[in-house]
Order: sequence, then C-alpha cells, then structure tokens
Amino acid sequence: MEFRSFMAEALIEARAAAARGEVPVGAVLVGPSGEVVARAGNRTRELNDPTAHAEVLVIRAGCAALGSERLLGHDLYVTLEPCAMCAAAIAAARVARVYYGASDPKSGGVAHGACVFDHPQAHHAPEVYDGFSATQSEALLRDFFAKRRG
Ligand SMILES: [Zn+2]
Repeated sequence: MEFRSFMAEALIEARAAAARGEVPVGAVLVGPSGEVVARAGNRTRELNDPTAHAEVLVIRAGCAALGSERLLGHDLYVTLEPCAMCAAAIAAARVARVYYGASDPKSGGVAHGACVFDHPQAHHAPEVYDGFSATQSEALLRDFFAKRRG
C-alpha cells in the first residue's frame, strides 16, 4: 500500500484547537486499512481536563469505536511530539506507528525528557517518525503563544 501522510488532517485539527483558544495540537488516528478512525485537537480548557490532549482524545475515541483497549495496527499522527503522558497512553494502546510534526524539547516525552518508548519499562514501542510538516506545526504554536503573550 502506498504511504499517505495524514498530517494535513492533523493540522486542520490543530488550527481548530487554536480557534477554540486551546494549545494548537491536532491528532488523527488511522486504522489498519488506512481509514481515519478518530480526529481531535486539544480540549484541556474546554473540558477542564489536563489529560484532554489530542492524542489521548483520539485513543479514547478509537478504543470506544473498536470496543477494545488496544489499537493494534493503528497509526497515530500528531502535530507535536507527544508528552510523556500521551506516549505512555500510546504504548498502552499498542499503537503501531507514531508520526509527529514539531519537536518539543520543553514537554516532549519521545525524543526528550522521559523518552518513554526507549525506557526499559515501556511494554510496547511503536515505530516513530518525526518531522512531518514540522514547519507548519511550529508556526501554529509560535503564533498562538505570541498572541497570548501580546
Ligand atoms: Zn500529551
């Protein structure tokens, strides 16, 4: 099967999150046959829930739709490097592949900080591909935080 990136869809969710006043991070969960299973942007402020990151929301929706706590063969696209909490959720869900955009030296938990998937306690490490549409993801985050400061 030819590779198709779903990062453009994830960026749409990130932009929608920014429009809601949320940190602009978007995620898309893709099933084994290449269909979009769930899409979400951050909703921590709207839901008063610090765990309502885009990745957690698509994992919850995907598991609910599938009726399973595992997302075998699923791919997760997210515009920003997942934090340690999301990386742990991704590992628990047994997501097959993670594609992310911008790198996050401050809060990332994949290539930075806890490096969850490389940790000996990780029960499952997905294949990880970084740098997808990173420039657009970074620009969204930069604009959002610049406006908040201004
Ligand atoms: Zn997170």
